[in-house]
Amino acid sequence: MIVNSSSRLNGVLYDLRGPVHDRAAELERRGQEVLRLNIGNPAPFGFEAPEVVVDALRDTLPHAHGYSESQGLGSAREAIRDHYAARPGFPAAGIDDILIGNGVSELVTLTLQALLEPGDEVLIPSPDYPLWTASTVLAGGVPRHYPCDETAGWAPDTEELGRMVTSRTRAIVIINPNNPTGAVYSRRTLDAIAAVADRHGLLLLSDEIYDRIVYPGHVHISTAQVAPMHPCITFSGLSKTSRVAGYRAGWVVATGFSPDDGYLAGLRLLASMRMCASVPAQHAITAALRHDDTIAALRSPGGRLYEQRALTVRLLQEIPGVTCHEPGGGLYAFPRIDPHVHGIVDDEQLVLDFLDAEHVLLVHGRAFNWTRPDHLRIAFLPHPPVLADAMDRFARFLTGYRQH
Ligand code: PLP
Repeated sequence: MIVNSSSRLNGVLYDLRGPVHDRAAELERRGQEVLRLNIGNPAPFGFEAPEVVVDALRDTLPHAHGYSESQGLGSAREAIRDHYAARPGFPAAGIDDILIGNGVSELVTLTLQALLEPGDEVLIPSPDYPLWTASTVLAGGVPRHYPCDETAGWAPDTEELGRMVTSRTRAIVIINPNNPTGAVYSRRTLDAIAAVADRHGLLLLSDEIYDRIVYPGHVHISTAQVAPMHPCITFSGLSKTSRVAGYRAGWVVATGFSPDDGYLAGLRLLASMRMCASVPAQHAITAALRHDDTIAALRSPGGRLYEQRALTVRLLQEIPGVTCHEPGGGLYAFPRIDPHVHGIVDDEQLVLDFLDAEHVLLVHGRAFNWTRPDHLRIAFLPHPPVLADAMDRFARFLTGYRQH
């Protein structure tokens, strides 16, 4: 008997945990230690979970073994509501406008499943966090990638974005701060995106999971702050800000909808079909949003993320043929490897060759729906000596490396 997967999975790509990941796992099975800089998972690199968040989870465990409302615990949604109410100009949201999920990942899938008819188009940045493209395809939609311009600090090309709208376009995805580029969008950029959405009646889907991991000199602005009257779904969660990716805690806030919109009812229906998000993790959300600001020290001068970002960018820049735009937010550097210097035609092969030679796992730019073979993503999560060693190994590997 042959059991095939659904044809709905054709074209669904999620290379962050794909072939390069499999090769790393194979090396590890053979006893080789691999430094995994491929995923934004802070815990393995010595980032402690904030005590107040762990305590909330532990203390509520004896009472958190039943289902909650499918939209989420009232107390957690109140904490989310209050969190956004403190943002100047963020449109007022009631707890009925909030939905808690098992991480932002689950909510990306649900929001697109609730939205798209077969063939509907979604405008997604290139490069992107690939879950957005994969989930669009899985929901029967067509991802259309709008370019971001490295020479403009990876800002989206909003004129091109406007030109890409067709009669089938339903939504614009914004990832701000961006994964993988680290770009933090200016008000001007967000205004221009919102104007396209307004002109063509498109839903704004704003993934802001790194909203509090923004380095000095940059300010995060929520899309909903610049477009308070426009239908917008804002996504965030605890995985990065509170470094508890394993808890699986995320949420969406819907703003700018009118009572006649059927969309949110559809989203709630889908949410009810999976009962609810993990209830202990919902208690952790309340504690994190009310009492945890440990991320502020990590992203400030002297803090681990601040220093590791600076070190990564500096060491990358020192490698001949490599340039790197300094990320304004998030956990990643997305350097450019000059394809002419190293004759690179296949960036996945580059990642595999580096993994085999130096046992460090990165992710190739193509995995982020970037079309040219000239970028890699590095999660700058390890302590500085480990990062410096990884960058040394990368420099050594690239010396003399040529594909063609
Ligand atoms: N959105 C972006 C931009 C991400 O980088 C990630 C995880 O890396 C997610 C969503 C998923 O986060 P979660 O752990 O909440 O599912």
